[in-house]
Amino acid sequence: MKPTIFITRKIDDQIVEKIKETCEVDMWPEEEIPVPRSVLEEKVKYIDGLFCLLTETIDKSLLEKAENLKVVSNMAVGYNNIDIQTAKEKGITVTNTPGVLTQTTADLTFALLMATARRLVEGSSYLRDGEWKTWSPMQLTGQDIHGATLGIIGMGRIGEALAKRALGFDMNVIYHNRSRKTEAEEKYGITYVNMDQLLKESDFVCVLTPYTKETHDLISEKELSLMKDTAILINTARGGIVNEEALYKALKDRRIWAAGLDVFQEEPVPLDHPILSLPNVVTLPHIGSASIKTRLKMADVATDNLIKSLKNETPKYVVI
Ligand code: NAP
Repeated sequence: MKPTIFITRKIDDQIVEKIKETCEVDMWPEEEIPVPRSVLEEKVKYIDGLFCLLTETIDKSLLEKAENLKVVSNMAVGYNNIDIQTAKEKGITVTNTPGVLTQTTADLTFALLMATARRLVEGSSYLRDGEWKTWSPMQLTGQDIHGATLGIIGMGRIGEALAKRALGFDMNVIYHNRSRKTEAEEKYGITYVNMDQLLKESDFVCVLTPYTKETHDLISEKELSLMKDTAILINTARGGIVNEEALYKALKDRRIWAAGLDVFQEEPVPLDHPILSLPNVVTLPHIGSASIKTRLKMADVATDNLIKSLKNETPKYVVI
């Protein structure tokens, strides 16, 4: 008998066909609406495998309902939406999709850095709103990217890909990470510094750590107070790493110059969130990995991980 799996969102037909070769597939039919928790709670009771997105909270109470579940395949590199400890206790394999989205997410991070520094979104609105009356010397002036110091917090796969891009723009790159990355230091001529030094010296601070207990509120009032008043914060990692209340105050009081955010503590970010009222913030709807090729690759990797786990083979990307 084929194992039964549930896919929590409508995904590409070809991927579904591939899964159907080895599994009985049940799929939430909507593309833009997440599966309701009550539906997920019912499905999880009988399935052997779960193919899910970062929008699903796979917590203890959900996992405890599962009787046959062997694998949770997350179509993301971050897995902070899954209770790893409970999965481990229940002998459930958890997999993710690192690597395939590294370059695409680094591209987006650099694009957001540039858009924020050079006020691209403001400039576009300025023109469309009919405010462009003349060329003037200090109109919509931003911060230079070339020659600036980029501080990367979290020198992992995406951090390293970002450093490589920054060097092409003649930036000086410093980084802070849980462990020293001597190979990357030698390869790219980047410098390891402690957290305070990074915050004090950087013109751009990019956060690229996973979201864990240790990185919750990693950037809060104290950290923001160390940054230059001309500095820009970019977060394409996870919302909970930056304390939004502290960030709002720092931006509003112009204690830092601007921020570029792809991720939020609550997603979708509520439209009455104070941060959305600020002109010096560029906001995106969590699209770091959103290129057509990369999203298809992520679905493909998540599929391979799922199928291999159900066949009792070792999947390529195992979290636990
Ligand atoms: P990665 O290769 O695992 O890199 C993460 C780095 O963060 C590692 O070098 C790790 O250090 C470091 N780190 C972990 N905890 C730390 C701490 N407390 N202080 C300092 N450094 C710490 O992961 P990745 O593939 O680059 O992805 C990074 C994160 O980006 C993911 O976890 C995900 O949440 C996010 N992401 C977002 C999007 C998006 O759409 N916006 C897309 C992809 C990924 P060690 O080497 O010592 O472990």
